[in-house]
Amino acid sequence: MMIKLSGISKSYPGVQVLRNINLEIGAGEFVSITGRSGSGKSTLLNILGCLDTAGGGEYILDGRTISLGAGETELSRIRREKIGFIFQSHNLIPNLTALENVMLPLVYQKIPRAQRLKRAMAALAEVGMSDRADHLPSEMSGGQSQRTAIARALAARPKLLLADEPCGSLDAENRRIVMNIFLSLRNKGNTILLITHDTAEAASADRKLLLTNGTLNH
Ligand code: ADP
Ligand code: MG
Repeated sequence: MMIKLSGISKSYPGVQVLRNINLEIGAGEFVSITGRSGSGKSTLLNILGCLDTAGGGEYILDGRTISLGAGETELSRIRREKIGFIFQSHNLIPNLTALENVMLPLVYQKIPRAQRLKRAMAALAEVGMSDRADHLPSEMSGGQSQRTAIARALAARPKLLLADEPCGSLDAENRRIVMNIFLSLRNKGNTILLITHDTAEAASADRKLLLTNGTLNH
């Protein structure tokens, strides 16, 4: 089991955002979560991604319990080791090329330069961006930038890919390209959790979940 959530809750002052969330995701599964704006999707993704901790309940990621009191040093190490993120905004570094952007996170994993280069080129190939490796973000379309961001997440070979509205700022053609990349990654055995409010995108997943007012409906 890649993810096991039992009775997860999360509150902010005056508002309970997540209630008694139970969820199991096996290795190699492609799962989507939909829900209206404000239903708690990003809050849940942040907990799954160790960007935040739950208020209550139990979270086991890849066999390891993420303690509710985990500090930022521990959380950031878990993120680096296990999780690849793709957000609506690609957050590429403007003065680095596609290749340099994809290689950068590998520095923190202490991977030697030759190996970084090899892995980054392979990741760019997976998203069809090999021929644009030396382009700056300003020279790429929105779709190409997002594909580069996916390559950056892949290069670290994460156990879990978390995508929060990855197609949110793309046109129909680029959405199709990016969704096809997710499907091809699933077919290669990646574990993917996709948050989207687009029902067609959600339907591409093997399993569709709906978040309503902080409650997960299977
Ligand atoms: P979604 O991604 O489904 O649109 P979010 O998880 O971003 O929903 O937010 C769910 C609810 O939690 C919203 O009511 C939002 O206002 C609230 N919320 C999210 N983050 C915070 C925060 N840091 N502080 C207070 N309230 C928050
Ligand atoms: Mg959100």
